[in-house]
Parts: sequence; C-alpha cells; structure tokens
Amino acid sequence: MIYLDYTANTPVDSEVLNKFVEVENKFIGNPNSNHQEGKKAKEELAKITENIASLLNVEPSEIIYTSGASESNNLAIKGITDISQGNHIITTKLEHSSVFAPIEELKKKGFVVDYAPLDKDGKINISQLIKLIRPDTVLIAICLVDGELGIIQPINKIAEEIKKVSDCKIHIDGTQALGKIKIDFKNIDTMSFSAHKIYGLNGSGILFKRGHLKLNPQISGGMSSSLYRSGTPTLSLNSAFYVAVKKAIENQDKRFSDVLEKNKNLREFFKQFPKVKINSPQNAVPHIINLSVEGIKGSVFQRKLDSYGVCVSVKSACSSDGLPSRAVTALGNSERTALSSWRISLSHLTTWEEIEQFKEIFVKLV
Ligand code: PMP
Repeated sequence: MIYLDYTANTPVDSEVLNKFVEVENKFIGNPNSNHQEGKKAKEELAKITENIASLLNVEPSEIIYTSGASESNNLAIKGITDISQGNHIITTKLEHSSVFAPIEELKKKGFVVDYAPLDKDGKINISQLIKLIRPDTVLIAICLVDGELGIIQPINKIAEEIKKVSDCKIHIDGTQALGKIKIDFKNIDTMSFSAHKIYGLNGSGILFKRGHLKLNPQISGGMSSSLYRSGTPTLSLNSAFYVAVKKAIENQDKRFSDVLEKNKNLREFFKQFPKVKINSPQNAVPHIINLSVEGIKGSVFQRKLDSYGVCVSVKSACSSDGLPSRAVTALGNSERTALSSWRISLSHLTTWEEIEQFKEIFVKLV
C-alpha cells in the first residue's frame, strides 16, 4: 500500500496516542465537577490550554475546543453572522465544504455572497477584494492553505488591508496550514484547526477566537467550560492535541524541507508526460500536488491507482460528488481539466521507495 493522502488524514503519532491513553486512565473526573477529581481534571485542562496557547502565541481564553475543523468553521461562520448587523459575506472558491456549505445556507436566509477574485497563481487579488467590501459586510472567510491545491494566501496582508476599511470579522480556515507554515494571528478574528491533519486524533480540533469577540453558540445546554461550545471537555483529546501541535511546530521546518524534496522530484517526473497538467501552483505548500491527466476523469484514475494499492484523493475526501472541482475551476481551468483533477498529498513519512513505486505504477497506467 502506498498512502499518498495525508491531506485527508494522517496516521496518529504514537506519542499522541500514548498521551491520550495516559490521560484517559489518570483523570476520571469531569472538569466541571466540584470535587477533588473534577478539580484535578480542571487544573490539567487549564495547563494544557495554556501550553497550546503559548505554542500558537495566543491567549488561553482564545481557545475553544471542538470536534474538528468542520465544527470550528461552522461555529465561527454561524456564530458571527447570527449576531451581526448586516448581510454581506465575502469568501473564495477555494474553501472546504465546511465553509462553503454554511455560507450557502446563509444565502437562503437572505445573505449576499461575493467571491474574491483570484490571480493566476490562485492568490486572492487584494485590491479587488477590498473593492467588494460594503458597509453591510459582516464576514470575510478565507482558507490560509486550501486542501485541494495547497495555495497559501497572504492572510495577514489581506487582513491588514481589510481592517483599514471595515470592521467586518475575518475567519480563517487554518486546517491545512498548521504544522506546514508559520501562522500569525494578527488582525484575524477566528481560525479553525484540526488534529487529524497533524498526526493527532480524529474528532478533535480547536477554534481560535479573538479576545472579546462574541459568537452565538451553536450547541445549547450541557455542562460547559466555554461559553461558546457546550459539552463536557475532553481532557484526553485536548492533551493529545497539545502533543500533536507541539511536535508539528517543533519539526515544521525539517518536515517541510523533506516534503519539498519529494515534491520537486515528482514535479520533475511529471514533466515527461505531455498530457499531465500540474494544477497546484509552484508556490503552493509542497505537501499537495493537484494534477490532471488529460482525457481521464480524476475519479477513474483514482480508482485505478487504488486497485494498485495507491491511495490518492479526488477533490477533498469530504466532497466526492462527481462534479468538477470548484477550486481547480476557480484557477481558470476548463471543466475538462477540473473533472480530470486529483490530488497527491505527501508527508515526511512518505518514503523514497514509495515515491519510486508510485512512479512505476503511474507510468503503467498512463
Ligand atoms: N478545512 C480544510 C481545508 C480541510 O482540509 C478539512 C478536512 N478535509 C476541514 C476543513 C475539515 O476538517 P475536519 O475533518 O477536522 O472536520
């Protein structure tokens, strides 16, 4: 088996898993309970939250634990728009379905949505984005790194320009950026993350929420340690998340250059095939290579690769609906190219042997 789908899910790191088991065994109390075991769990949760905040360079009170980035994106988008005066949103065509879908729902409730124009390399055209801002714009939602093409958006430059002309809120989907590139929260109001993209456990994520920003909670009732997200805090998952983020950030540069070498090698390899078009811009994160093999549907190629034991994705794992990729189309590609697109995603765990085996299989199939 050659696993080349690390953008969809990463295997859990053993230290992360050990931490989860250790904390599950050690802390039996509910952090909201007012007895010794409860207090012990509450203290540990506060310590873990402080540690995560310090790694991300934010305040502990700015961290909301969630079940993953889909929940974080929904909480930010709905939580902000529920209580804002105004009904205009700006986003991009590169967003994950957990950003795209809640915004589509808001359209049905009367919100007007504009999509920020993209330059040839997929980066947002900042001056054109600024022109779209209206007095009733309440939210601008952008992914820092998109999951299909790996384009990196200059979010801090964008946010700085937005804040000069509007006090609308800026939500960033940081899911595919964490552990890959440096993240700066300056001028950002909310940002989503997920553990299972950084060798953490599935079903665990966070939403960064700037200081006093108010959100309308999306879960009612239940014991809560946060005003914004009810439910008994999951100390073990949160502790495991801390270990995953710590390792991801500490090893970020080393892992990045390792993946970059493999990316360069594959891009060089693909050059010999006139029918192969690389859709990910050169300056995308090296972890993602989106490509189209002319005349062959992405889903067909993916299934063929799967039959040889190679795991890749068509679009993101969360939107396998057979329609042409929105993100690939947004870069000015034809519907044919978008329908042919599929994605390889690499990791520092990808071996050179796997790369060579993949190449052999690719040659055979093409
Ligand atoms: N945003 C992006 C960019 C993603 O790639 C994903 C996962 N495919 C998500 C959000 C959703 O994350 P989760 O699976 O943690 O809900």
